Order: sequence, then structure tokens, then C-alpha cells
Amino acid sequence: MFLRLGWIGALVLAASVCGAQPTVQVLPGEQMRINVAAATAVPIIGGWELTLPMLNDNDGAYGVTVSFTQWWHFELTNLNPAGERLVFRITQARYGDTILPVASVNGGRYARLPATATPTRSGSSPYTFTFTWDVPPGTTSLRVAKYFPYTLPMYEAFRAWYRDEAFAGLLDEEVIGQSVEGRPIHLMTVTDKSVPDDDKVRVWVHTAVHPAETQAYFCTEGLTTFLLSGDPFARAILRRVIFNIVPMANPDGVALGNYRTNARSVNLENEWYAPYNSTVPETLAMRLKIEEFMGTEANVGSNPILLLLNLHSSHGLTYPFHFVHQGTWFQPGDPGAKPSVNAIERRWVDLLKARSPYVALGTSQSSNFNHPSRPYVEAMMHDRYSVKDAWQDVMAITFEGTYQAGPVTGVPNTDDDYRAVGWAIGQAIGDYFNIPEPTPTDAWIVY
Ligand SMILES: [Zn+2]
Repeated sequence: MFLRLGWIGALVLAASVCGAQPTVQVLPGEQMRINVAAATAVPIIGGWELTLPMLNDNDGAYGVTVSFTQWWHFELTNLNPAGERLVFRITQARYGDTILPVASVNGGRYARLPATATPTRSGSSPYTFTFTWDVPPGTTSLRVAKYFPYTLPMYEAFRAWYRDEAFAGLLDEEVIGQSVEGRPIHLMTVTDKSVPDDDKVRVWVHTAVHPAETQAYFCTEGLTTFLLSGDPFARAILRRVIFNIVPMANPDGVALGNYRTNARSVNLENEWYAPYNSTVPETLAMRLKIEEFMGTEANVGSNPILLLLNLHSSHGLTYPFHFVHQGTWFQPGDPGAKPSVNAIERRWVDLLKARSPYVALGTSQSSNFNHPSRPYVEAMMHDRYSVKDAWQDVMAITFEGTYQAGPVTGVPNTDDDYRAVGWAIGQAIGDYFNIPEPTPTDAWIVY
């Protein structure tokens, strides 16, 4: 009955004031979340003012902390084909940064809105962000999001690309586990299969344990694109390095439009603590594979992981950065990491900054990991492996993208800026392992 009255009201308004009332939708698998039931629309001159309350992960179910109410993305249809002014009021936001939203018009590629649509923030947390956009004529459907989303169809397009026959000599994909809702957790193995593994080193990368930190997926796409590009340096790297890449660590979170958790509101990032017996399936799948590669003290893996990247993004900082662990670990119970681990982390950061002008703008943040249970993957790599004589030190670190500032002052970042960071990550991994970058002349000789 409510909907029917709303429809009649919209028809009346269509005749008298402006176009029909836009319809708000949240589509499954499209990394969308907003409170459709509580959304309201008020006619204004030439358009509508839409008030759209945010919702927490899993609509607040399973005991999720309210502070995780930080992702929004929705679709609008029933738009005025002549174009119209839309005023958006995004309410209940638990993040405070001013982020220029993105939109996809008629199913096209997402892009930042014009700078005139920069939101203004009001209230204290939870905040309201208000912005105005004059939707171009001819727009029949519109998607609007806090930041560039990474939907399941985008993920499947990426997988279809890297699984192409052309890359069969370089890439395999396996399923290492299932999410709570039964979605596969994929693992790519990328290396030059024509070269024996004996002298290779192993790199592990996992992507967006926090599902709406989408900069992570774009980094992983950029890294994979570099590795498969045929670039002479990439080819040299793949003769020496085995890459194990989890391209989507939390597929349920993406499908459901969660910001930070899986389908049961578990923050997977905090599931790596000793005694390493978490049964949360997404983390378990990755941990078992890492343990398989590392082996045991009595039987160390043939190519244990030497470099591990945990890809995320952060609010509240301007430029991309790493969490570098203080070199304060000397005995069990100490915070931080071994001084020698701190040294290789700082070396890694310097190498990536040398390859990425965008990353070079950022400032490393210090982490001493003094959380008593040390629940992060890096802490697991420090405590179980780097501190033991059986293994070499593992350079395990979290890299964080950010939401607004881009490599060019005053121009907000894009998905492609993070793909470029991913490309630079590939080059910096070559540098980290002292693999010479072939000169153009070398390339002719070698290939
Ligand atoms: Zn995160």
C-alpha cells in the first residue's frame, strides 16, 4: 500500500513539478549498501533531494560494531531523461573524510563526480554528507558510490582475463577454500613455469580482507597486469619469483556490500592470532596455504614466503602508506618486530617509493603490534617464522591506499592510479630481490 501511494504521489509530482521520483535500489553482487527502506525523496526545483541513510555491515547483524558503517553504493532508476538536479544527503556516516563520490552513468565506467559535487559534512559522528549533482540529459540509470566500487562482475571480468590461454605458461588458479556463503577463495600462482622452482623465491599477496577497501583490488589488478605484460623486467622477475596472489580475500563482503567484515560480521583481519586455530573460513583458507608454503621447523617448505603484502586502504591520511613495525622485538611478548625485520620493511618502502611517485608522497606509519594477541598476518609471520632460525626474515607488511588525494595536487585519485601502484609494486619486488631490470639492448639479446 505504501509503495502504491508513493507511485501515485510521484505521478502527480511528475505532472506538476519535475520528473518522476527516482527509485533507489541495492543490487546483489554489486557491492551495494544503503538503507532503501528509510530513503526519502523531496521534490526541489528541477529535481529531487534524496536522503539516504547508511547501513552497517550485514545491516547491523551478528554484533558488528557501529563504527563499521562506512560504505555506501546504490543504483537510481526512473530518472528524468531531460536531466535533473539531484541533491544527495548521505546520513549515518561513521567516517569523517570528505571524499568526492563516483558515479556510473547508464552502466558506464565509474568516474569521480565534478568537483562542484564535493560533499559538505555536517553534524558530529554519525555525519551527514550533502552534495549536489546536475545529472546529464539522457541518463536513465545511475550508480553512485562513496568511492570506486569493485563488484563481483568486475572481479569475474578480471579472472576471465588472467585465465586466458595466452597466460597458461605463467599462471594457474586454484580454489583454496569457501567463504561462509560458499563463494570460492581463489589463489593465483604466477611464475615462469619453464624455469624450475629450485632457486625461486616466493611472494604472497592478499587483497582486501576488508572488502570495501577497493584500492587493494586495483593494486592487485595492476600487479597482475605487470606480471603478464611481457615487459622484459616482468619476464625476468617471473623466472626468479613465484607469486601467490589472493585477488579477493572476502568475496561475501563484496557481494553483500560490507565495509569491513564477512557475512557473519567477522573482521577477518583480526583472525590470525596464536594459537592459530581460527575456524573463520576465509582466514583459515589463506592461513593453511601460508603454513603449507612455510612448512615446519623440522621440514621447512622448499620455497618459503620471503615477502608478504596485505593490501588495504585507510581513512584520515592523505597519501598511500605502509605500517612499518618498530624494531623492538627481542623475546616473546615484546611489541613490534625484530630489528632486522624492521630494516627490510624500510628497505621495501624505499624501493616502492622509488618506483611509484604517488606512494613516494606518503609517510610510513609506525606500528609496534603491542596488541596482546597479535592478531594480524604480519605478526604471525614475525612470531612463527622470522624469529626462528629455520627461516629467513619475512618482509610482511600492510600497504594502505587512501580515498581522495591523487598523484597530481588537487586532482582526486582514481582506480587507475592504484593500478599504476600495483604495476610499481611488481617492479619494486624485482628490485627487492636484486633482479636486474633488462635494458632495451639486453632485451634483444635475452629474448
Ligand atoms: Zn583494512
